[in-house]
Amino acid sequence: MLDQLRAVLQEHQLKATRQRLLVLEYMMTHENHPTADMIHQELPEISLATVYNTLEKFVAANLVIVIDGMADGKRHYDTAEERHYHVINTDNNDIIDASNFDPSTLIKAAEEATGLTITDYRIDLYGHPDKK
Ligand SMILES: [Zn+2]
Repeated sequence: MLDQLRAVLQEHQLKATRQRLLVLEYMMTHENHPTADMIHQELPEISLATVYNTLEKFVAANLVIVIDGMADGKRHYDTAEERHYHVINTDNNDIIDASNFDPSTLIKAAEEATGLTITDYRIDLYGHPDKK
């Protein structure tokens, strides 16, 4: 695991500090779309500010993505590795992973509409359970 984590950091041109290895390990072993607070609670030996700064470094290096616009007003993070889209339950702020969607039609439409070549995308959908 440690070798794998070091390799990932190196791939993204990041020095492998102890804090980075721990935060990256957390991100790769949890699918809970954590906030910096949540990671800090599990890794109290790393200050909240360091957790936050580490995550933002990961975001700048395209290792991690931010999910914002949440009703809790906090930045949530996710690994950028596996392609999936998010469905956010606005009643309880649950972020649900889903991958049963082929975005190629949407990507083609976006390219036709703008003349740009689409190189990346993120899809976040918001909804609430049916009120019965
Ligand atoms: Zn996700």
